[in-house]
Amino acid sequence: MTAINSDEIVSTIDPAGCNCDDCLRGVSVPLHRADAGQLNALLDGRLANATGLDLSDIEAVLDAL
Ligand SMILES: [Zn+2]
Repeated sequence: MTAINSDEIVSTIDPAGCNCDDCLRGVSVPLHRADAGQLNALLDGRLANATGLDLSDIEAVLDAL
């Protein structure tokens, strides 16, 4: 495999504004920097949800952002 797929490196979505070691290394992505594919994976459960948000109620999540 030659191409690097960022979705395979990123395992966790962190809260917006997060700047922890995992975010700096690219293992986690802060919510505000997640791209469309990563948001899709988050909602699908393919990426771990460390945002502290309850994604089962997307309207409440969007209201809170
Ligand atoms: Zn982080």
